Amino acid sequence: MADIVLTADRTLMSNYRGKEFLGFASTVPPNVVPDWFFERLFFPYVRERGGLPLEAPYGLRKIEAKLLEGGFDVVTVRPDRLKRWLRGARALGVHAMDPFGVGPSSSTFSRLLKSGEPYLVKHFKAIFQSPEVRRAKADGLRIIVGGPGAWQFRYWPEAQEELGIDCVIDGEAELVLVDLFRRAIEGGELPRFLEVPPSMAPSLDDIPEIRNPSINGLIEIGRGCPRGCAFCSVTLRPLRWYPLEKIDRELRVNSEGGVDGCILHGEDVLLYGARGVIPEGDKVLALHRLAKSRARGLGWSHASMAAIAAAPKLMEELSEIIIDGDQRWWGAEIGIETGSPELAAKVMPAKARPFKPEEWPEVVKSAAGIMADCGLVPACTLITGLPEETEDDVIKTIELIEDLKWFKSLIVPLFFVPMGRLKGEDWFKAEQMTASQIELFLICLRHDLRWAKAFMDDYLKGKPYAPLLKPLYKIVIWATERRARKEGALLKAPGEGVRPPIEATAPRRC
Ligand code: SF4
Repeated sequence: MADIVLTADRTLMSNYRGKEFLGFASTVPPNVVPDWFFERLFFPYVRERGGLPLEAPYGLRKIEAKLLEGGFDVVTVRPDRLKRWLRGARALGVHAMDPFGVGPSSSTFSRLLKSGEPYLVKHFKAIFQSPEVRRAKADGLRIIVGGPGAWQFRYWPEAQEELGIDCVIDGEAELVLVDLFRRAIEGGELPRFLEVPPSMAPSLDDIPEIRNPSINGLIEIGRGCPRGCAFCSVTLRPLRWYPLEKIDRELRVNSEGGVDGCILHGEDVLLYGARGVIPEGDKVLALHRLAKSRARGLGWSHASMAAIAAAPKLMEELSEIIIDGDQRWWGAEIGIETGSPELAAKVMPAKARPFKPEEWPEVVKSAAGIMADCGLVPACTLITGLPEETEDDVIKTIELIEDLKWFKSLIVPLFFVPMGRLKGEDWFKAEQMTASQIELFLICLRHDLRWAKAFMDDYLKGKPYAPLLKPLYKIVIWATERRARKEGALLKAPGEGVRPPIEATAPRRC
């Protein structure tokens, strides 16, 4: 038994069968497929050893490491094991990714499919509504919530009350965590909502190294981003790149813990070790050689179109390191955000650097060509509803996405959420959508459904269980497509699109 128990909902306590992309399925609402079946298919629970999960979300592992460093008795468990672990515990820490379903993917699916709340919301709430948590709460358990989705509680404070959450921490928590949990277990006062300001961002020495394996071997290579987009809060934090030795220690924790994959996490993996926005090839190559020496499969959390477009040769070299007998492609999440050079210049002028914002659509198309050649298959995001967005901007985004039909990728549109320097602006709501914005969403949905079928074939190729799972995954995609058609979302059949020659789209360097 431990004083502090850490957990995350079941959609996060999964390694998605080793395929991070399948995690997207947790953002859709329950559908025609029975829940138990859908959950086992897309986000089955991580395996356990000795009653503890073999892998857990990286953010939770960082918290666990910091609390262990602080001398606490702490354990990380699956939510279905809380009954056993909460006996005698004095504090419960819960990791939140998208607790209210307003993240990019979940809000898109639920609005387009006009269904209920996504799986990740349902399972997040289920933790607090479980009889064991309610019972422990009545006996004095203190509950602290943190993680990338903690900011959402600022907009739904009443939900914090309803769920019995004593404290929410938003931001990098390393410098406040030990004190907060000490107060929690000693019965001291806790702030209802603690926003950790960028000035309290931890130094490299304050950031602990994980002690136990993370989901799919995800590890950070740094924090912060130099591009300064107006709608992003990450950019307000200082830029810190971890030395290779620190990264290697975490790689070893994962490989020795039996996780044979690795996802390098940074806001732009290609900028690893760079002081500006031009990739420094030697550092990036050294990082990848190291990671690939410890993990059979390698992927990225995020990268930028501009860094890819600026470094075609480096991408080729990276592809030679990453692609081998164990993997034929790798994934990353990449922001397109808009197809309008004018809007790019207003809200994300540095996103295109070292190119000019006026060249943004060409930067995206050039990067798409390089990715297709190198085997990088991204999940791209768009933002619509930015305060300064005009109808013309939306049309330019539609044109760009039409030009990318051939590009093997997911493209996920999201509504503007007031964050970063635009924190004071109004939320964009589905009811405000113009005909062009609806068209943009539908184009993306058609793109995604078509490529989702190809992803399934890739994922399952050569797997012994492929003959069983393949038809099941296809049924789920078919059911989503059917629902979308019913809602009028798929009026036109998707076209294949033709990839233009790279030379035709290559942007000029600034
Ligand atoms: S490039 Fe990405 S992480 Fe960096 S500021 Fe822009 S949106 Fe944020």
